[in-house]
Amino acid sequence: MLRPPDASSVKLAERLSTSVGVGVVHATRAISPSLHEIVLHGVSALAGVPGNDVMLEVTHEGRPVRRRYSVRSVDRELDTLTLWIATHHDGAGATLARTVTEGTALDVVGPRGKIGLDELADWHLCIGDVSSLAAFYRLAESIEPPGRVVFIIEVDDPADALTPSLPEGLGVTGIFVDRDGRPRGTADGLLSGLAAFAFPPDDGHAYLFGEFGAMNVLRTALLDRGLSPEAISLKAFWRVGSANADHGEPDKTV
Ligand SMILES: Cc1cc2nc3c(=O)[nH]c(=O)nc-3n(C[C@H](O)[C@H](O)[C@H](O)COP(=O)(O)OP(=O)(O)OC[C@H]3O[C@@H](n4cnc5c(N)ncnc54)[C@H](O)[C@@H]3O)c2cc1C
Repeated sequence: MLRPPDASSVKLAERLSTSVGVGVVHATRAISPSLHEIVLHGVSALAGVPGNDVMLEVTHEGRPVRRRYSVRSVDRELDTLTLWIATHHDGAGATLARTVTEGTALDVVGPRGKIGLDELADWHLCIGDVSSLAAFYRLAESIEPPGRVVFIIEVDDPADALTPSLPEGLGVTGIFVDRDGRPRGTADGLLSGLAAFAFPPDDGHAYLFGEFGAMNVLRTALLDRGLSPEAISLKAFWRVGSANADHGEPDKTV
Protein backbone atom coordinates (compact mmCIF):
# COMPACT_ATOMS: atom_id res chain seq x y z
CA MET A 1 0.00 0.00 0.00
CA LEU A 2 1.19 3.54 -0.77
CA ARG A 3 2.61 5.38 2.24
CA PRO A 4 1.00 8.68 3.32
CA PRO A 5 2.92 11.95 2.79
CA ASP A 6 5.33 13.01 5.56
CA ALA A 7 3.81 15.18 8.29
CA SER A 8 6.14 18.06 7.21
CA SER A 9 4.71 17.94 3.67
CA VAL A 10 1.15 17.98 5.00
CA LYS A 11 1.99 20.99 7.19
CA LEU A 12 3.69 22.80 4.30
CA ALA A 13 0.70 22.27 2.00
CA GLU A 14 -1.62 23.60 4.71
CA ARG A 15 0.55 26.68 5.21
CA LEU A 16 0.64 27.35 1.46
CA SER A 17 -3.09 26.60 1.06
CA THR A 18 -2.35 23.98 -1.55
CA SER A 19 -2.49 20.20 -1.84
CA VAL A 20 -0.18 17.32 -1.04
CA GLY A 21 0.16 13.80 -2.34
CA VAL A 22 2.57 10.96 -2.90
CA GLY A 23 3.69 10.48 -6.50
CA VAL A 24 5.16 7.18 -7.62
CA VAL A 25 7.88 7.34 -10.26
CA HIS A 26 6.28 5.72 -13.28
CA ALA A 27 9.12 6.37 -15.75
CA THR A 28 12.48 8.12 -15.76
CA ARG A 29 14.94 8.74 -18.60
CA ALA A 30 17.49 11.20 -19.91
CA ILE A 31 15.90 13.15 -22.77
CA SER A 32 18.98 15.27 -23.60
CA PRO A 33 22.52 15.69 -22.26
CA SER A 34 21.24 18.15 -19.61
CA LEU A 35 17.63 17.11 -18.96
CA HIS A 36 15.93 14.17 -17.27
CA GLU A 37 12.25 13.42 -17.67
CA ILE A 38 10.40 12.04 -14.65
CA VAL A 39 6.81 10.83 -14.95
CA LEU A 40 4.94 10.68 -11.63
CA HIS A 41 1.80 8.65 -11.12
CA GLY A 42 -0.97 9.52 -8.65
CA VAL A 43 -0.59 13.30 -8.36
CA SER A 44 -2.05 14.68 -11.61
CA ALA A 45 -4.59 16.63 -9.50
CA LEU A 46 -1.66 18.74 -8.25
CA ALA A 47 -0.58 19.87 -11.76
CA GLY A 48 -2.55 23.13 -11.75
CA VAL A 49 -2.57 25.30 -14.87
CA PRO A 50 0.16 25.99 -17.45
CA GLY A 51 2.98 27.87 -15.71
CA ASN A 52 2.45 26.07 -12.38
CA ASP A 53 5.01 23.90 -10.63
CA VAL A 54 5.14 21.30 -7.87
CA MET A 55 7.49 20.96 -4.91
CA LEU A 56 9.32 17.66 -4.51
CA GLU A 57 10.82 16.55 -1.22
CA VAL A 58 14.48 15.65 -1.80
CA THR A 59 17.34 14.82 0.55
CA HIS A 60 20.18 17.34 0.94
CA GLU A 61 23.04 16.48 3.32
CA GLY A 62 20.81 13.98 5.13
CA ARG A 63 17.83 16.28 5.67
CA PRO A 64 14.67 16.80 3.66
CA VAL A 65 14.45 19.98 1.53
CA ARG A 66 12.08 21.07 -1.24
CA ARG A 67 12.86 21.64 -4.88
CA ARG A 68 10.35 23.20 -7.30
CA TYR A 69 9.80 21.85 -10.82
CA SER A 70 7.41 23.17 -13.46
CA VAL A 71 4.88 20.70 -14.78
CA ARG A 72 5.74 19.88 -18.40
CA SER A 73 2.51 17.99 -19.11
CA VAL A 74 -0.35 16.24 -17.40
CA ASP A 75 -2.45 13.23 -18.34
CA ARG A 76 -5.53 13.25 -16.13
CA GLU A 77 -6.84 9.94 -17.54
CA LEU A 78 -3.63 8.06 -16.73
CA ASP A 79 -3.19 10.19 -13.58
CA THR A 80 0.39 11.15 -14.48
CA LEU A 81 2.34 14.38 -14.59
CA THR A 82 5.70 14.90 -16.27
CA LEU A 83 8.66 17.00 -15.12
CA TRP A 84 11.83 17.99 -17.01
CA ILE A 85 14.72 18.39 -14.57
CA ALA A 86 18.13 19.94 -15.35
CA THR A 87 20.93 17.59 -14.37
CA HIS A 88 24.12 19.33 -15.56
CA HIS A 89 25.12 20.57 -12.09
CA ASP A 90 25.63 19.05 -8.63
CA GLY A 91 22.57 19.49 -6.45
CA ALA A 92 20.06 17.45 -4.48
CA GLY A 93 17.33 17.83 -7.10
CA ALA A 94 19.68 17.04 -9.99
CA THR A 95 20.98 13.96 -8.15
CA LEU A 96 17.46 12.76 -7.47
CA ALA A 97 16.56 13.14 -11.15
CA ARG A 98 19.65 11.22 -12.26
CA THR A 99 19.30 8.36 -9.79
CA VAL A 100 15.64 7.87 -8.88
CA THR A 101 14.17 4.54 -9.98
CA GLU A 102 10.71 3.45 -11.08
CA GLY A 103 8.42 2.70 -8.14
CA THR A 104 10.02 5.29 -5.80
CA ALA A 105 7.43 7.25 -3.79
CA LEU A 106 8.00 11.02 -3.53
CA ASP A 107 6.15 13.67 -1.53
CA VAL A 108 4.65 16.25 -3.89
CA VAL A 109 3.15 19.61 -2.82
CA GLY A 110 1.27 21.70 -5.38
CA PRO A 111 0.14 23.33 -7.46
CA ARG A 112 2.47 26.32 -6.87
CA GLY A 113 3.19 29.44 -8.90
CA LYS A 114 1.50 32.68 -9.85
CA ILE A 115 2.62 33.21 -13.45
CA GLY A 116 0.22 31.98 -16.10
CA LEU A 117 -0.32 32.76 -19.77
CA ASP A 118 -1.28 36.37 -20.54
CA GLU A 119 -4.43 35.59 -22.53
CA LEU A 120 -4.60 39.13 -23.94
CA ALA A 121 -1.13 39.13 -25.50
CA ASP A 122 -0.81 38.74 -29.28
CA TRP A 123 2.70 37.34 -28.97
CA HIS A 124 4.60 35.62 -26.19
CA LEU A 125 8.36 35.84 -25.66
CA CYS A 126 9.93 33.10 -23.51
CA ILE A 127 13.54 33.62 -22.40
CA GLY A 128 15.54 31.21 -20.25
CA ASP A 129 17.64 28.05 -20.15
CA VAL A 130 16.97 24.31 -20.13
CA SER A 131 15.41 24.52 -16.65
CA SER A 132 12.64 26.68 -18.12
CA LEU A 133 11.72 24.47 -21.10
CA ALA A 134 9.03 22.51 -19.22
CA ALA A 135 7.20 25.67 -18.15
CA PHE A 136 7.61 27.40 -21.53
CA TYR A 137 6.39 24.46 -23.61
CA ARG A 138 3.33 23.84 -21.41
CA LEU A 139 2.50 27.56 -21.56
CA ALA A 140 2.97 27.56 -25.35
CA GLU A 141 0.67 24.56 -25.75
CA SER A 142 -2.08 26.61 -24.13
CA ILE A 143 -1.86 29.51 -26.63
CA GLU A 144 -4.87 29.76 -28.92
CA PRO A 145 -4.00 29.89 -32.65
CA PRO A 146 -3.20 32.22 -34.37
CA GLY A 147 -1.08 33.39 -31.43
CA ARG A 148 2.68 33.64 -31.73
CA VAL A 149 5.45 32.41 -29.46
CA VAL A 150 9.19 33.03 -29.53
CA PHE A 151 11.66 31.00 -27.46
CA ILE A 152 15.15 32.35 -26.73
CA ILE A 153 16.95 29.61 -24.83
CA GLU A 154 20.59 29.20 -23.87
CA VAL A 155 21.80 25.60 -24.11
CA ASP A 156 25.04 23.83 -23.22
CA ASP A 157 24.75 21.29 -26.00
CA PRO A 158 22.85 21.49 -29.32
CA ALA A 159 21.08 18.27 -28.34
CA ASP A 160 19.45 20.16 -25.43
CA ALA A 161 17.48 22.19 -27.98
CA LEU A 162 14.36 20.03 -27.60
CA THR A 163 11.34 21.24 -29.53
CA PRO A 164 7.65 20.81 -28.68
CA SER A 165 4.84 19.86 -31.06
CA LEU A 166 2.62 22.89 -30.89
CA PRO A 167 -0.92 23.39 -32.20
CA GLU A 168 -1.20 24.01 -35.93
CA GLY A 169 -1.77 27.67 -36.74
CA LEU A 170 0.56 28.94 -34.02
CA GLY A 171 3.47 31.12 -35.16
CA VAL A 172 6.58 29.62 -33.56
CA THR A 173 10.19 30.89 -33.55
CA GLY A 174 12.98 29.15 -31.65
CA ILE A 175 16.32 30.87 -31.07
CA PHE A 176 18.71 28.48 -29.30
CA VAL A 177 21.93 30.13 -28.17
CA ASP A 178 25.01 28.00 -27.50
CA ARG A 179 26.52 28.87 -24.08
CA ASP A 180 29.85 28.34 -25.77
CA GLY A 181 31.93 28.23 -22.59
CA ARG A 182 30.59 31.50 -21.17
CA PRO A 183 30.17 31.33 -17.36
CA ARG A 184 26.71 30.20 -16.27
CA GLY A 185 24.47 33.06 -15.20
CA THR A 186 25.90 35.62 -17.63
CA ALA A 187 23.29 37.23 -19.86
CA ASP A 188 25.38 37.94 -22.99
CA GLY A 189 24.21 34.93 -25.00
CA LEU A 190 20.53 35.56 -24.32
CA LEU A 191 20.98 39.29 -25.01
CA SER A 192 22.40 38.47 -28.44
CA GLY A 193 19.42 36.18 -29.06
CA LEU A 194 17.09 38.99 -28.00
CA ALA A 195 18.87 41.44 -30.32
CA ALA A 196 17.97 39.13 -33.22
CA PHE A 197 14.24 39.43 -32.42
CA ALA A 198 12.29 42.43 -33.76
CA PHE A 199 9.23 43.13 -31.60
CA PRO A 200 5.99 42.95 -33.59
CA PRO A 201 3.89 46.13 -33.39
CA ASP A 202 0.99 44.54 -31.45
CA ASP A 203 0.88 43.56 -27.74
CA GLY A 204 3.42 41.09 -26.38
CA HIS A 205 4.21 39.48 -23.04
CA ALA A 206 7.65 38.26 -21.94
CA TYR A 207 8.28 35.39 -19.54
CA LEU A 208 11.76 35.29 -17.98
CA PHE A 209 12.42 32.02 -16.12
CA GLY A 210 16.00 31.11 -15.28
CA GLU A 211 19.10 32.25 -13.46
CA PHE A 212 18.50 35.17 -11.06
CA GLY A 213 21.19 37.58 -12.34
CA ALA A 214 20.74 36.82 -16.03
CA MET A 215 16.96 37.20 -15.85
CA ASN A 216 17.26 40.60 -14.17
CA VAL A 217 19.62 41.82 -16.90
CA LEU A 218 17.14 40.58 -19.52
CA ARG A 219 14.30 42.40 -17.75
CA THR A 220 16.22 45.69 -17.98
CA ALA A 221 16.92 45.01 -21.68
CA LEU A 222 13.21 44.42 -22.35
CA LEU A 223 12.24 47.63 -20.54
CA ASP A 224 14.86 49.49 -22.62
CA ARG A 225 13.26 48.01 -25.74
CA GLY A 226 9.93 49.53 -24.68
CA LEU A 227 8.06 46.63 -23.07
CA SER A 228 6.04 47.79 -20.06
CA PRO A 229 6.73 46.32 -16.59
CA GLU A 230 3.24 44.72 -16.62
CA ALA A 231 4.16 42.86 -19.81
CA ILE A 232 7.13 41.13 -18.17
CA SER A 233 6.80 38.14 -15.83
CA LEU A 234 10.08 37.19 -14.16
CA LYS A 235 10.70 34.17 -11.95
CA ALA A 236 14.21 33.36 -10.71
CA PHE A 237 14.55 29.57 -10.86
CA TRP A 238 18.10 29.28 -9.52
CA ARG A 239 21.15 31.38 -8.72
CA VAL A 240 24.68 30.81 -9.87
CA GLY A 241 27.07 29.87 -7.05
CA SER A 242 24.46 29.13 -4.37
CA ALA A 243 22.02 26.32 -3.72
CA ASN A 244 18.34 27.17 -3.55
CA ALA A 245 17.02 27.54 0.00
CA ASP A 246 15.31 24.63 1.75
CA HIS A 247 11.88 25.89 0.58
CA GLY A 248 13.09 25.77 -3.05
CA GLU A 249 13.62 29.47 -3.84
CA PRO A 250 16.96 31.04 -4.82
CA ASP A 251 18.39 33.87 -2.72
CA LYS A 252 16.97 37.12 -4.13
CA THR A 253 19.03 39.64 -2.17
CA VAL A 254 20.93 41.92 -4.52
C1 LIG B 1 9.00 28.07 -9.66
C2 LIG B 1 10.20 27.26 -10.07
C3 LIG B 1 10.09 26.34 -11.10
C4 LIG B 1 11.20 25.60 -11.51
N1 LIG B 1 11.08 24.68 -12.53
C5 LIG B 1 12.16 23.94 -12.91
C6 LIG B 1 12.05 22.96 -13.95
O1 LIG B 1 10.98 22.73 -14.51
N2 LIG B 1 13.17 22.26 -14.27
C7 LIG B 1 14.39 22.49 -13.65
O2 LIG B 1 15.38 21.82 -13.99
N3 LIG B 1 14.52 23.41 -12.68
C8 LIG B 1 13.43 24.13 -12.30
N4 LIG B 1 13.54 25.05 -11.31
C9 LIG B 1 14.86 25.26 -10.74
C10 LIG B 1 15.19 24.23 -9.69
O3 LIG B 1 14.21 24.16 -8.69
C11 LIG B 1 16.53 24.72 -9.12
O4 LIG B 1 17.51 24.78 -10.12
C12 LIG B 1 17.02 23.92 -8.03
O5 LIG B 1 17.92 24.73 -7.30
C13 LIG B 1 17.82 22.70 -8.43
O6 LIG B 1 18.07 22.08 -7.27
P1 LIG B 1 19.36 21.28 -7.01
O7 LIG B 1 19.16 20.68 -5.65
O8 LIG B 1 19.67 20.40 -8.15
O9 LIG B 1 20.54 22.36 -6.94
P2 LIG B 1 20.84 23.39 -5.76
O10 LIG B 1 21.17 22.64 -4.51
O11 LIG B 1 19.77 24.41 -5.64
O12 LIG B 1 22.15 24.11 -6.31
C14 LIG B 1 23.42 23.46 -6.31
C15 LIG B 1 24.34 24.20 -7.27
O13 LIG B 1 23.88 24.02 -8.61
C16 LIG B 1 23.64 25.27 -9.25
N5 LIG B 1 22.41 25.14 -10.04
C17 LIG B 1 21.13 24.97 -9.59
N6 LIG B 1 20.26 24.86 -10.62
C18 LIG B 1 21.01 24.98 -11.74
C19 LIG B 1 20.70 24.97 -13.13
N7 LIG B 1 19.44 24.82 -13.58
N8 LIG B 1 21.70 25.10 -14.02
C20 LIG B 1 22.99 25.25 -13.60
N9 LIG B 1 23.36 25.28 -12.30
C21 LIG B 1 22.39 25.15 -11.38
C22 LIG B 1 23.51 26.30 -8.11
O14 LIG B 1 23.97 27.58 -8.53
C23 LIG B 1 24.41 25.69 -7.04
O15 LIG B 1 25.75 26.11 -7.24
C24 LIG B 1 12.46 25.79 -10.87
C25 LIG B 1 12.56 26.71 -9.80
C26 LIG B 1 11.46 27.44 -9.40
C27 LIG B 1 11.60 28.42 -8.27
